[in-house]
Amino acid sequence: MMSSSKMYVCRRCQKNFKTGEGKPDIRFPGLGRCNDCLSTAAANTSA
Ligand SMILES: [Zn+2]
Repeated sequence: MMSSSKMYVCRRCQKNFKTGEGKPDIRFPGLGRCNDCLSTAAANTSA
């Protein structure tokens, strides 16, 4: 069994997400943004 997905912690809401369920932050290993916060940020940017 290959487990290539890593676990990350969202920097905004502290939710755990895997690779593909959010966007890892290259500057902070193990941290990133979950899809919820990504869509929220996108909505805020485009609004
Ligand atoms: Zn989040």
